[in-house]
Amino acid sequence: MSQDLAQVAKERGIRYFMISYTDLFGGQRAKLVPASAIADMQKDGAGFAGFATWLDMTPAHPDMFGVPDPSTLIQLPWKKDVAWLAADCVMDDKRVAQAPRVVLKKVLADAESQGLRIKTGVECEYFLINVDGTAISDSKDVAAKPCYDQQALMRRYDVIAEICDYMQELGWGPYQNDHEDANGQFEMNWNFDDALITADRHSFFKFMVKSIAEKHGLRATFMPKPFSGLTGNGCHVHISVWDKTGTQNMFLDNTDEVGMSQQGYNFLGGIMRHAEGLAAITNPTVNSYKRINAPRTISGATWSPNSVTWTGNNRTHMVRVPGKGRFEFRLPDGAANPYLLQASVIAAGLSGIARKAHPGKRYDIDMYQLGHTVTDAPKLPLNLLDALRSFDKDSELKSALGNEFANAYVKLKNTEWNAYASHFTQWERENTLDV
Ligand code: ADP
Ligand code: MG
Ligand code: MG
Ligand code: MG
Ligand code: MG
Repeated sequence: MSQDLAQVAKERGIRYFMISYTDLFGGQRAKLVPASAIADMQKDGAGFAGFATWLDMTPAHPDMFGVPDPSTLIQLPWKKDVAWLAADCVMDDKRVAQAPRVVLKKVLADAESQGLRIKTGVECEYFLINVDGTAISDSKDVAAKPCYDQQALMRRYDVIAEICDYMQELGWGPYQNDHEDANGQFEMNWNFDDALITADRHSFFKFMVKSIAEKHGLRATFMPKPFSGLTGNGCHVHISVWDKTGTQNMFLDNTDEVGMSQQGYNFLGGIMRHAEGLAAITNPTVNSYKRINAPRTISGATWSPNSVTWTGNNRTHMVRVPGKGRFEFRLPDGAANPYLLQASVIAAGLSGIARKAHPGKRYDIDMYQLGHTVTDAPKLPLNLLDALRSFDKDSELKSALGNEFANAYVKLKNTEWNAYASHFTQWERENTLDV
């Protein structure tokens, strides 16, 4: 494909380009640029007022430009007139250090300088709900154990098949779709790839799922715990690390009990070491902490972790090694920023490799039954403030991600926490009126 976007527009009948960037809170921000104006925008970027989005800028900052990455172009399969492009934020001819896609590129450049190529896959769970957001959209979807429910899956066939067909058309290699563990919840899986490709796809996937749900008169939510008592929306990440050419899996050691190399264990050691601080990024909302640390759901299990532990093929721990040469990080949730998610996990893993971190003891127990017997593993943060404080204390993780980013993130998220904490609730009225 030609990299000249004006030419691509002619060849493919594109009328508008959607130049899109993701801010620190995961918001996707875009301008629609007519094909007639794309030649200049491809060079200079589309202009934005950074302060108007979550990037920790002031109204006095100069214009910020979203410079599109032509390799990310996706002609919207449901609206072929429009093509989406992921953009990198630039100001005064420099990349904006705290912009999430820039942060990920920096971390990936660090990996590359060590001869490492990181491949990841994400499992983006979501609910299909009513447009007003109050309830799931399928009133018949009420089973206590609704996971893999065939009938409920087929009642949403039109939405699921449309999205899966598009992933097929885009060459993502989708391979399965299912009803997940909560009523109204679904998951669609596609093949892993280089971490930046996965992050771009993750961000496009959210846009696509929301768009197609709307087209069908529904609403999709990736909110970590949209309904109390039901399993929440996880966003598990699977990771493997390869050599420069992407042909040799450096995490793979067939002689090891779970098939993990020393380098794999060290990377995992980094994840374990930084888990509490990582949570500020992988579980970035107030609501995130109602998914982890949650009481048992109606289905019987939350499927989310509560402590910093790892295991073999066992879904009750924070990290699971489901197969040789890769592991699954089960902490992240549906609110995680697609770029910061990858960046933070990889930064933690690289720091583990650098200091030859040991992941600690492997636990093969059922954590939901026997978690109380584990005394040497930290508990995950209990709320966003806890997580933000852990992140703020983790100078190693912060500097691996870039201090400009870390400071901006902590500042904005603390402001969000303060807004939440000052919100007067019915709970306190009910529990305090008669003191
Ligand atoms: P599960 O529900 O058992 O955790 P899924 O099949 O839903 O697993 O998702 C697995 C994800 O892991 C997919 O995105 C898949 O492409 C990805 N994956 C598989 N192998 C690797 C690997 N070696 N490195 C990175 N990701 C991988
Ligand atoms: Mg204007
Ligand atoms: Mg899955
Ligand atoms: Mg799942
Ligand atoms: Mg999983």
